[in-house]
Amino acid sequence: MQTKFLLDEGEMPKRWYNIQADLPTPMDPVLHPATGKPVTPDDLHAIFPMELIRQEVSTERYIDIPEEVREILTLWRPAPLYRAHRLERHLKTPAKIYYKWEGVSPAGSHKPNTAIPQAYYNRQEGIERLATETGAGQWGSSLAFATSLFDMACTVYMVRASYDQKPYRKIMMQTYGAECLSSPTMQTNSGRAVLEHDPETSGSLGIAISEAVEDAVTHDNTNYALGSVLNHVCLHQTIIGQEAEAQLALADAYPDVVIGCVGGGSNFAGIAFPFAGPKMTGKHPETEIIAVEPSACPTLTKGLYAYDFGDVAGLTPIMRMFTLGHDFVPPAIHAGGLRYHGASPLVSRLVQDGVVRATSYHQNEVFAAAVLFARTEGIIVAPEAAHAVKATVDEAVRCRETGEEKVILFNNSGHGNFDFSSYEAYFAGKLVDYEYPAELIKEALGRLPVVG
Ligand SMILES: *Cc1c(COP(=O)(O)O)cnc(C)c1O
Repeated sequence: MQTKFLLDEGEMPKRWYNIQADLPTPMDPVLHPATGKPVTPDDLHAIFPMELIRQEVSTERYIDIPEEVREILTLWRPAPLYRAHRLERHLKTPAKIYYKWEGVSPAGSHKPNTAIPQAYYNRQEGIERLATETGAGQWGSSLAFATSLFDMACTVYMVRASYDQKPYRKIMMQTYGAECLSSPTMQTNSGRAVLEHDPETSGSLGIAISEAVEDAVTHDNTNYALGSVLNHVCLHQTIIGQEAEAQLALADAYPDVVIGCVGGGSNFAGIAFPFAGPKMTGKHPETEIIAVEPSACPTLTKGLYAYDFGDVAGLTPIMRMFTLGHDFVPPAIHAGGLRYHGASPLVSRLVQDGVVRATSYHQNEVFAAAVLFARTEGIIVAPEAAHAVKATVDEAVRCRETGEEKVILFNNSGHGNFDFSSYEAYFAGKLVDYEYPAELIKEALGRLPVVG
């Protein structure tokens, strides 16, 4: 009975998988926020290095991972794949449950998989500081870690709700040498505008992104880094699914069901794209791929597939994606990393094309699954990852009812060791299952940018 499936360092993927090569038709163009015309590489070069811009639009199937980046990734990669025997037994399911464990990275999640290459490419272009936003603090810690390895400065705008709930994430960023600010701040025009209108705001990723982009645009030595959503971020995360495929092969298995949680979509892309490609091209057409999101911020299940801004102030390029409206501020649920109004254009496209199915859960049922996972498998997962756990448990229970011996693979995107205030709120019965905020979303969708 094997539990852990490990690869040697030499077996870590040497290339990222670019799903754009396998789409039946190209992605829709990304538009300039001011002109509504397709953005040019020069437009994007104000805040991103050229190599990341190239990766953003590339249709090459594989892109080499630079040697220096691979060396750093081996600090924790290849990440282990586990078979969840004890969870299976508890659920009395004939399904075989496997999970990829991304919590072994220094920051505790999948996010350093892209923070490292992003810092690397920026440093190569002579950039000295990166500005970014963070929701739950996972991305801020990851970029702080990455910039410290490349001797760069880092400024992190942290969504106020999380800044107050998770003080230790802030200390972690400080330990890596980054500056962490509670967003909205009084230091940017976008921050000041929000605070004037609503001083008590809990903040949002959309607001924090506006602040970080403004910071990068107004400082020459500074670029902006995004921890999710964009094509190059999804690309960097595909190391997860490629490793998982090789590890499942050690168990003579290929997944029938692939599950990941979706905030901006990057960890989901990481586990799912290497299986979505073969699904689209007909090599493995039967694979079921499930994206899981919170019912309080139901981007993929209740949003519109439309052109929208990535941030609240309308500074970012306009992208076609599932969106709840760029100025929708989601309820302050504890899975802070899943409070985003939009979703990766690539993940959105796969949902729109029917390659991926989306589903949503309320936070109490999600935490109940997380506690069950802790008591069977030992790992205390991040509230974000708990959404994938919940969907996995439901799928395994369905298999018990039908007798199907499906192979289920989910991405365990990170640990919850900084999230005990959320678990505390759950145990105290204080977590609110926000009803789907239909009216708020309807209003926000009425304010989408007019395009074309
Ligand atoms: C940030 C985060 C997420 C959500 O972001 P994605 O880009 O959708 O992956 C999920 N899980 C963990 C542990 C995170 O830190």
